[in-house]
Amino acid sequence: MKRIAHFIDGAFVESADGTTFPALNPATDEVHALVADGKRADVARAVAAAKRAFHEGPWRKDAKLRAKVLRAMADGLERRAEELAAVEVEDTGLPVTQAKGQGARAAQNFAFFAEMATRMTGESFPIEGSFINYSRRRAVGVAGLITPWNTPLMLESWKVAPCLAAGNAAVLKPAEWSPASARVLAEIARDAGVPDGILNVVNGFGETAGASLVAHPDVALISFTGETTTGMEIMRNGAATLKRYSMELGGKSPVLLFADADLERAVDAVVFGVYSLNGERCTAGSRLLVDRAIHDEVVCRLEERVRRIRVGDPTDPKTEVGPLIHRDHWQRVKGYCDLAPREGARIVTGGERPAGLEGGNYLAPTLITGVRNDMRIAQEEIFGPVLTVIPFDTEEEALEIANDVKYGLAAYIWTKDVSRAHRLAGEIEAGLVWVNSQNVRDLRTPFGGVKMSGIGREGGHYSFEFYTETTTVHVATGEHPIPRFGAAPD
Ligand code: NAD
Repeated sequence: MKRIAHFIDGAFVESADGTTFPALNPATDEVHALVADGKRADVARAVAAAKRAFHEGPWRKDAKLRAKVLRAMADGLERRAEELAAVEVEDTGLPVTQAKGQGARAAQNFAFFAEMATRMTGESFPIEGSFINYSRRRAVGVAGLITPWNTPLMLESWKVAPCLAAGNAAVLKPAEWSPASARVLAEIARDAGVPDGILNVVNGFGETAGASLVAHPDVALISFTGETTTGMEIMRNGAATLKRYSMELGGKSPVLLFADADLERAVDAVVFGVYSLNGERCTAGSRLLVDRAIHDEVVCRLEERVRRIRVGDPTDPKTEVGPLIHRDHWQRVKGYCDLAPREGARIVTGGERPAGLEGGNYLAPTLITGVRNDMRIAQEEIFGPVLTVIPFDTEEEALEIANDVKYGLAAYIWTKDVSRAHRLAGEIEAGLVWVNSQNVRDLRTPFGGVKMSGIGREGGHYSFEFYTETTTVHVATGEHPIPRFGAAPD
């Protein structure tokens, strides 16, 4: 049986107490590896290594070294792309073609932040005659990076790359349902020359390994991606040690589809946006709000497409939707499908295990119509291959429905009316808006959500606002008045 160890201070190590937990293959539900089960002692060891490497090593003071090493990590990810995709498929059920796409994105993240490492700047504030003030950035220290199980490699790279580029040391805690790719990432880091202790990986469960990281007094930053309720708990648990947080949380993102849109492209984007990555995508356009004038036509087109999505073995390059990550998650998503008719909605297609796929966590892509926005299926994040469709009559109504949800991560607008597109982009409560576009993102742009979808922005130089401290330096360039207490004659 394969083993997935922790990576601490440059070496792969088992848990201090020797315990493990099984990693399951979602396509078969069979155990594919035994994973070191990290607890407080393992986290403490990793944080101590990170702290030492941060203070005693060259990393935080040598941007050129960081750029070189992160570039080598990008190369390593590219070189081992096939192997990484296979590891991710076995561990998460992501269809292999999409796992390869996510792996390529992970490599891009490292290449991008390798360049950014030498581009950190400050501001200067000349003050006529008397002062110059300037700001400078420096690394914060030890960061805790806590990641979810959807697209694990890509999301880990999204945190590790900027965190290290800024000069910090990191302890990464991958999700317990998807530990495998982080082990390869650690090997790539070691081979690329990341100094011992600068990147550590501790596996384990949220309540033990994750919570210990959050509570540790020597961890200054927590970058978290996961469920909103987990984010809340992390903030509560970190309060005693006053952590800085970046929170990338859940979503229930609307797609606003107007009658004047290019329907062919819009339908392509809607189907890809919610059913790709097995529907386990934080920015999934999971609520389709469609102009009533085209509602029936759109539903008809969607039904035809959704029925034909290729569901099956994630190792097959032709597969479009694979199994859900875990049987508990399958139960959760299926629970929402079963709830839909009870709430008065109609399942047009899906909602069941597909015929012929008896093992593993397969669920047919699901299309639900007759949905009202106050239903739970329209309000709660399902995080599976499930699309709910709600008609609207006016732009105002579309906006009202779009915003009438606790989340605010992404929104998608499909219309040829330029004024309307910009008007809505300014009014929709979301951190990310795409107009006539699927989810394509330039790495320089800020990424993050509003409302219950998160706090803060990462991406481009926005990542450095989180991963660095700013010091303002005030220098006198002339003689300015200094009150002379105690200097007055008696
Ligand atoms: P989750 O919140 O259950 O777990 C995420 C991570 O937090 C895991 O590593 C887990 O072990 C850890 N964790 C759990 N409890 C903890 C605790 N008390 N202290 C410290 N760590 C703890 O989320 P998930 O089910 O793995 O992922 C799915 C969620 O992630 C969805 O809600 C999805 O929308 C969200 N997500 C958001 C984004 C974004 O960028 N906004 C991206 C991807 C996923």
